[in-house]
Formats: sequence, C-alpha cells, structure tokens
Amino acid sequence: MTPFGLCDRCRHQRLVTSGRGSTFSMCERGLQDPDWPKYPPMPVLRCPRFAPRQEPD
Ligand code: SF4
Repeated sequence: MTPFGLCDRCRHQRLVTSGRGSTFSMCERGLQDPDWPKYPPMPVLRCPRFAPRQEPD
C-alpha cells in the first residue's frame, strides 16, 4: 500500500509539503466542490471520484 492509498494513483492528487518537511496529500476536487474534503482521512481505500493518472506510453 502506498502512503496515501488510492490517491497516489489519482490525477486529482496534489502533494503539498509543509515548512516542517511533512508531505500531505491534497485532493484538488475539494478546491472545486465545497462538499468534498481537500484533505480526506488517509489512506483512502475507496473513492467514487478516483480517476487514474495517464501513464506515459
Ligand atoms: S478524488 Fe479521491 S482518490 Fe482522487 S485524490 Fe481525491 S480523494 Fe484521492
């Protein structure tokens, strides 16, 4: 399992590093939808908004 679960394979994930060097997984869907959390509890195991990243050919 990756540190942030399903989010680590999702194109809506944005990794944010704090000034103290901790890394958080932010969900960009939460920037557009006020009913969706920007910082869901980790690791995310299931998500109806999961969208796989495009893998390079
Ligand atoms: S849409 Fe779901 S799986 Fe994707 S980053 Fe947001 S919370 Fe994680």
